[in-house]
Amino acid sequence: MRVFNFSAGPAALPEPVLRQAAAEMLDWHGSGMGVMEMSHRGPEFIAIHAEAVALLRELLDVPAHYRILFMQGGAIAANAIIPLNLMGPAGRADYVVTGSWSQKSYKEAQKYGSAALAASAERDGAFRHIPPVQEWRLDPGAAYVHVCTNETIDGVEFAEPPLLPGAVPLVADVSSHILSRPLDVTRFGVLYGGAQKNIGPAGLTIVIIREDLLGRAHPLTPSAFDFKTVADNDSMYNTPPTYAIYIAGLVFRWLKEQGGLAGIERANVAKANLLYDAIDGSGFYVNRVDRACRSRMNVPFVLPDKRLDAAFLKGAEERGMVQLKGHRSVGGMRASIYNAMPLAGVEALVAYMREFAKAHG
Ligand SMILES: *Cc1c(COP(=O)(O)O)cnc(C)c1O
Repeated sequence: MRVFNFSAGPAALPEPVLRQAAAEMLDWHGSGMGVMEMSHRGPEFIAIHAEAVALLRELLDVPAHYRILFMQGGAIAANAIIPLNLMGPAGRADYVVTGSWSQKSYKEAQKYGSAALAASAERDGAFRHIPPVQEWRLDPGAAYVHVCTNETIDGVEFAEPPLLPGAVPLVADVSSHILSRPLDVTRFGVLYGGAQKNIGPAGLTIVIIREDLLGRAHPLTPSAFDFKTVADNDSMYNTPPTYAIYIAGLVFRWLKEQGGLAGIERANVAKANLLYDAIDGSGFYVNRVDRACRSRMNVPFVLPDKRLDAAFLKGAEERGMVQLKGHRSVGGMRASIYNAMPLAGVEALVAYMREFAKAHG
């Protein structure tokens, strides 16, 4: 039996995608082999790769002057790869810290140059709001401004991409909400994210980069992580994560069937509203994130007494709902409700939360 899996990542995938992958495991489209066994330079995989890139371009409406790269290393490796590629001769970049992941990005960047803290949303050790752009201390000479547009641990999301006053390019870690809503790619110089939250298997990193930002890498950048080298070789400089790219392509097709990003956004809004309304109306569960920047993907909440946590998790598991434990750094609960989580999963969670609150309130 399949459970409702609220994992923050690696996370649930759409069931039709898994079924198709299972059916094609031994023999992809009459090739007599599975995708994992194919040469990345053979015609079969080249077609799979090209379709995945084309579908992602279509879904996100990525303009022609942006390149789509499929890389490896995840967003944590990108925390180093980004400054290596982009800091350039300026050697300076601005970091906006709105949660645990952007904090990590800021720390790592300090190894590679002068990373400045343009704004921090930390208050008493917690992240619950996004400071307005007018309050960011931006350096007009910075090579880029870095943000994380959905903080997976803290449940803080930019409802709109920030509009920067100058021409400094915006770089964003979009790992945990990419493809959950339409996004104006032209607001960004670079978008990057690991696939394992909302797209596919771990091991694939997606980078969308404006062409003029290619070719600025520090000479010590590993070639496999030099955006220009990767772009010039169509993401085939080294062997790409072929199976992860194939699954991502199936997820992109599934997303098109859901009405594209406008369609999936409607579903995501319905799920998030249902869950936040249940929390706010409960008089029992609490989510302290500013309403204006509550994440639609990752919903942290606490119970009135930590001693109830174990019982809550146990009851959820008995009802087929798993991975609801909050990140160890913040405690409490967290329901990650990515694209692949059906409304029925959130309905089941909300019904259980009501039942539990009644029994323990
Ligand atoms: C999960 C996550 C990461 C870390 O990804 P890795 O694949 O472990 O490198 C970084 N940033 C965000 C926003 C995430 O959600």
